[in-house]
Amino acid sequence: MPENPTTEPTPGLENLLHETRSFPPDPRFAEQANAQAGLYDEAKADRLAFWERQARELVSWRTPFTETLDWSGAPVARWFADGTLNAAYNAVDRHVEAGHGDRVALHFEGEPGDTRTVTYADLQREVSRAANALAALGVTTGDRVVIYLPMLVESVVAMLACARLGAAHSVVFGGFSADALRSRIADAGATLVITADGGYRRGAPSALKPAVDEALEPRNGAEPTTVAHVLVVRRTGQDVAWTEGRDVWWHEALEAADVQHDPVWVEAEHPLFILYTSGTTGKPKGILHTTGGYLTQTAYTHRNVFDLKAETDVYWCTADIGWVTGHSYVVYGPLLNGATQVIYEGTPDSPHQGRWWEIVEKYKVSILYTAPTAIRTFMKWGEEIPDRFDLSSLRVLGSVGESINPEAWMWYRRVIGGGTAPIVDTWWQTETGAIMVSPLPGVTAAKPGSAQVPLPGIAAEVVDDEAHPVPDGGGGYLVLSEPWPSMLRGIWGDLERFKDTYWSRFPGIYFAGDGAKKDEDGDIWLLGRVDDVMNVSGHRLSTTEIESALVSHEYVAEAAVVGAADDTTGQAVVAFVILIGEFADRAADDAGADAVQTALRNHVARQIGAIAKPRKILVVPELPKTRSGKIMRRLLRDVAENRAVGDATTLADSSVMTLIASGLAKPSTSSED
Ligand code: ATP
Ligand code: MG
Repeated sequence: MPENPTTEPTPGLENLLHETRSFPPDPRFAEQANAQAGLYDEAKADRLAFWERQARELVSWRTPFTETLDWSGAPVARWFADGTLNAAYNAVDRHVEAGHGDRVALHFEGEPGDTRTVTYADLQREVSRAANALAALGVTTGDRVVIYLPMLVESVVAMLACARLGAAHSVVFGGFSADALRSRIADAGATLVITADGGYRRGAPSALKPAVDEALEPRNGAEPTTVAHVLVVRRTGQDVAWTEGRDVWWHEALEAADVQHDPVWVEAEHPLFILYTSGTTGKPKGILHTTGGYLTQTAYTHRNVFDLKAETDVYWCTADIGWVTGHSYVVYGPLLNGATQVIYEGTPDSPHQGRWWEIVEKYKVSILYTAPTAIRTFMKWGEEIPDRFDLSSLRVLGSVGESINPEAWMWYRRVIGGGTAPIVDTWWQTETGAIMVSPLPGVTAAKPGSAQVPLPGIAAEVVDDEAHPVPDGGGGYLVLSEPWPSMLRGIWGDLERFKDTYWSRFPGIYFAGDGAKKDEDGDIWLLGRVDDVMNVSGHRLSTTEIESALVSHEYVAEAAVVGAADDTTGQAVVAFVILIGEFADRAADDAGADAVQTALRNHVARQIGAIAKPRKILVVPELPKTRSGKIMRRLLRDVAENRAVGDATTLADSSVMTLIASGLAKPSTSSED
């Protein structure tokens, strides 16, 4: 952990920040927005009363709660603890009971082009059948079920079936290896695994079940697996190995099951799911979320941040259910609010680079929620592609996962949002369960690149080393100083690690691991993880800011910067950049590469200041990313410091590091002035 926070603004940083614009909320939008400015005042006046109201209005309780928050066991919170409810009932049945059974819940779009429309009434039947099928396989309240599936209707049904029984699901992203799956199954002590024969990706069927078979194989010296059954969805029809007695077809189990199922009413603090974090920063942690508070905050944020109008909107969150975004903003938040949404199985470039925009046009998607990595990819592909489609239905755009570079923000608004759609840059984590910092459309004047303000009811601050809030214009650590309903309740099976990881840096305060600053208006800018912050001659430099400066140059599609040890300056900035196609050719020979590097280094100096000028800029064909699309800077740091590359098992594409290392073997001619 760095000793000094960035309390001093980076010299010259104002150029980058103040050049960025601010867009006042569209008044036509504001009049009908779900969130009105009064929400902030209400929450400020009485935070707990505010959450109590949200919990009563947005969630249906079997037994109403009488106490809002019990923080006596801090840092393990208990919200609405004496209430009882069921998450699947809240997501499905109550909409049917309210007369909305015919409303479409899911428009499924398979990668090969097959489609399926599922109403809330359909979903109720499917989830009930699945819950009965799971129960028949021995799953009971309190058990753990691992779900290892592509983006299918069955994936949503499987999660809700677990919730209906009061069994915690632990979804493992379908791109993870057999080993990653094995360790998560073991850590969770799962008794059932739900998988598929395979799924479609990049135009071809890819297998899933073999990884499950491998993960469950007995191993010398290892504990025997706790898994009794594997439930297999048939998606591609490819051949699968079959273990008699253990493996069961999903469709056969569901056909045999009754369509009636009484949800199991659980206490508000009953575990809803365990989700292992993606591992950008180390050994995966089983983040535990419980029921009542989690549902309250996911429903509240989904309704207000995206301004959802359940009767008219078509919502599409492109995240996979393997990530927390897929849990909170594909499954629980939207379904609790009775939304109609699109789910898509495949990749954005199958069978062509306009696939997403074709989907937006086809379903008249009005709210789109995606990640900066996707937006930068579309920028690289060129705006002629989205321009071919009618995107006029879009009215709110969201971003999550990393800071969105101002350049990408502007592009997103102009090319995808028709120049008017508000963009909500939402900061949150697997651990926070739901959105914490974000503008509210119709209320907040939008600033490209800034996540801006804590939501009503959320106490987020930027603090210095001594946990004092920094003044406007200062930088430090982003912390959460008051408990919130959807906060994690621990790391599965490891209370000490939970306390140590999140509550020890500033006693009694949750520290998220991210650096941030406040601008002159008090708006929050995320600066990247504090572990990635660089210290150059005593100046603390943010990865996000230098990357945003690089991406704002016309040559650059994507950038990652790291600090490499340096004898004179302590650390030196090393940048890895992917160039936009037409400019990539220019860097093909040494002289061209030199010219490109000089141009980019000068650009960073102009945008931020000479201190931020990268010592080295390496043009690379790809960047190492996690399977959720985030840059793994620690691997790049290894490369920049000429070390053997560390654990790369959570990389989406392991060949990337070889590509980068071989490019680097060429002597770099660029050095500091
Ligand atoms: P791991 O914790 O295993 O290293 P991870 O942190 O990438 O993985 P997530 O919980 O999915 O796993 O991501 C949360 C992190 O993503 C935040 O701590 C922050 O660094 C980053 N992040 C998410 N949204 C934003 C945003 N809008 N702006 C800036 N950073 C964001
Ligand atoms: Mg994290």
